[in-house]
Amino acid sequence: MQIRILGNGGAVNDGLPYNSFIADNYFLVETPPDIMNSLFREKTDLSAIRVIYISHFHGDHYFGLPFLILRLFFNSAGQSMNFKIRILGPPGIKNRSKEICRLALSENHPVNSWIDDNFIFDELEADGRIHIENDSYLKVFSMNHFTETYGFSFFKNYRIIFSYFADTIWSDELISQIKLFPQIIITDLNGEPSDPQKIHLSEEDLIEKGIPHSKGKIMFYGTHIKKQKGPSHKQIEYVYPGLVISLPE
Ligand SMILES: [Zn+2]
Ligand SMILES: [Zn+2]
Repeated sequence: MQIRILGNGGAVNDGLPYNSFIADNYFLVETPPDIMNSLFREKTDLSAIRVIYISHFHGDHYFGLPFLILRLFFNSAGQSMNFKIRILGPPGIKNRSKEICRLALSENHPVNSWIDDNFIFDELEADGRIHIENDSYLKVFSMNHFTETYGFSFFKNYRIIFSYFADTIWSDELISQIKLFPQIIITDLNGEPSDPQKIHLSEEDLIEKGIPHSKGKIMFYGTHIKKQKGPSHKQIEYVYPGLVISLPE
C-alpha cells in the first residue's frame, strides 16, 4: 500500500502544513484546518476518499472537516453521492461533525441535511476493530493525551501493515503496539526536551523506551512536529508534505 503525507505540523508549528496523511487514496487520516490546501497541493483525488479518520477533537485534527464536506457537496452538485463516506472518530463524532459544519457554514446551509444522506459515522473505542474495506481493518487503541484520543494499527489480509500513534505522551502501552511489528509507525514526535510540560512524545522517549522493543525492524516516521527536522537515528525519519511511503502488503 501507499501512504502519502499531506502535512506534518503539530498544533504549534513554524508554518508547516498540519499533520495529515492518506493511505491508498481512499483512507484519509485527520482533517486539520488547512486540509483543503494540503489535499490540492498533493493532487489528491477527492472522489476516491471513502473513509476519514479523526483521532481526537483538537482543532488541528478536525477543524478542516466542514470545508472538505462543503467541497464534496459542491462536487456532487448537492445530489447524493452514489456511495457513503465513513467518518471515524471519538464518541460523539456525528454531533461534533454536524456542529462544526453549522458553525462554519451557518445553521441553514443545505450541507447540514446533505451530511445525513452521504456520511456514516462510526465511534472509535479502545481495543475496537473497525472494518475499512474488503480485507482491511483497523485495531484501535487509546493514546495518552488530555482529551480522548485514538491511534490504530492497519491490517490487511490479517497482516499488520502500519500503525499511527496520534497525539500522546509516552506510555508503556505503546510497547504492546510496537511488539505487533508493523512495518512502520507514523507517530506524534512533537515533544521537545525544552517543553515546560510534557504533552507529546519526544525523540528521546522513543529512542530510550520504544525503539529498543522494535528489534531493529520498525521504521518510525515522526509527524505533528514544530519545525522540519532531519534524521537523527537510523530508525527515525521525519515526514514532510508530499512524501510517499510504499509498503509491501
Ligand atoms: Zn494535535
Ligand atoms: Zn491534540
